[in-house]
Amino acid sequence: EAAALSRIGLAGLAVMGQNLALNVAEKGFPISVYNRTTSKVDETLDRAHNEGQLPLTGHYTPRDFVLSIQKPRSVIILVKAGAPVDQTIEALAAHMEPGDTIIDGGNEWYENTERRIVEAENRGLLYLGMGVSGGEEGARNGPSLMPGGSYEAYNNIKDIVEKVAAQVEDGPCVTYIGEGGSGNFVKMVHNGIEYGDMQLISEAYDVLKNVGGLSNTELAEIFDEWNRGELESFLIEITADIFKVKDEHGEGELVDKILDKTGMKGTGKWTVQQAAELSVAAPTIAASLDCRYLSGLKDEREDAARILAAAGLKEEVGTVRSGIDKKRLIDDVRQALYASKICSYAQGMNLLRVKSSEKNWNLDFGELARIWKGGCIIRAVFLDRIKKAYQRNPNLASLLVDPDFAKEMVQRQAAWRRVVGLAISAGISTPGMCASLTYFDTYRRARLPANLVQAQRDLFGAHTYERIDREGAFHTEWTKLA
Ligand code: NAP
Repeated sequence: EAAALSRIGLAGLAVMGQNLALNVAEKGFPISVYNRTTSKVDETLDRAHNEGQLPLTGHYTPRDFVLSIQKPRSVIILVKAGAPVDQTIEALAAHMEPGDTIIDGGNEWYENTERRIVEAENRGLLYLGMGVSGGEEGARNGPSLMPGGSYEAYNNIKDIVEKVAAQVEDGPCVTYIGEGGSGNFVKMVHNGIEYGDMQLISEAYDVLKNVGGLSNTELAEIFDEWNRGELESFLIEITADIFKVKDEHGEGELVDKILDKTGMKGTGKWTVQQAAELSVAAPTIAASLDCRYLSGLKDEREDAARILAAAGLKEEVGTVRSGIDKKRLIDDVRQALYASKICSYAQGMNLLRVKSSEKNWNLDFGELARIWKGGCIIRAVFLDRIKKAYQRNPNLASLLVDPDFAKEMVQRQAAWRRVVGLAISAGISTPGMCASLTYFDTYRRARLPANLVQAQRDLFGAHTYERIDREGAFHTEWTKLA
């Protein structure tokens, strides 16, 4: 007697795949699973059994796996990005039929997805590149999903992804993003923004700890308090929790024992590369990436700290620097963090806007902010304000000139300048906050010293310049007139 066919399949049962498969099954959609190394199939079957007899079947060959799914088939792939995706597609597509759909849920480079869309079309298959955010927990209990590619393919799985995604008060955290590799591109920028958020939070921590002299216990309290206000977000919440964890192997808190070298997997670098490619300024995200690179040079930094000891100001950890009003510093840092974050999001959204018009993706920025409100790492109350800003004006040039955000920036700038100024004079680097502040200060100026750069370019390269008072391109024989 033939077993009932599954509604959908999932291949690739590492952290993300296992948890997403269990999530799908828990929402009542019978799912088939497969993994190259078959022990992970058994692991997943055990979990499905232990987590409530979930409707999940395990398969040990690509053929059995594909044939266990009802037509038109939809198969999600969650393997390492790059060549493993191509290899998995090869293995599965051999058994798939025209009208079936492949969905790559990995952090894939969007151009790989665009190539695979064409390859799939040649086989009569439909294709989606679907960004998945929220890590292990999100995958299991409700991620933010960013599917792009074939609209027909999206419709085939719409009922499933709408149940599987995180739920917020204005709907599930999934929407059809657009054609081509748009889903992967949006996920990439989401990750770039995530780099920015994490960097800015680490700078707030640095200033509060090394200028304000706050202990881990105080930091936990402050972050808990911040999580009840405008900064309320997943990253602020987990940061508060991190400060509370004691070190099992010694005195004090674990956070102080962690080596100060940040890892990375590439999506932040891609974001900065794309920003440069499209001539979009994204200095906060770039500063976050640079900080990860610098953090990696631990040995060099230790040498430099010795060689440049005279330049660095003495670190007086655990003491309040003289003349510091601790209460005011904490409030200032909160405001600096918020203002810096708005600038970082403005950069990310602008990158998306420019890419959208280059590729004709027609991205709906309000919807993107909405589906990031739940499930994903950057989820935050503040995203609702971004959603509303784009609803008020879908063609908004920058979040900074939305009337509500503009007002908030103006209100916070004094505190922001105090924090950055204090950090600079204390010799503590705040690259993200500084990048955001200079971005703000550059963007809001009607006249910049770019006139001088144009004059220089015209002098040495006859590049010509425009004038503020008359039309046309001009060239001057500067050296003859000087
Ligand atoms: P991963 O560590 O990126 O990849 C491991 C999986 O890839 C295993 O199932 C492995 O199969 C499979 N694989 C590797 N090479 C293969 C090949 N040549 N052929 C077939 N299968 C191959 O897994 P992950 O952390 O769960 O991430 C999956 C995707 O989601 C990645 O693109 C990742 O960037 C993205 N993502 C991850 C997170 C996260 O928090 N981890 C969050 C969002 C997005 P074997 O067991 O046979 O080796």
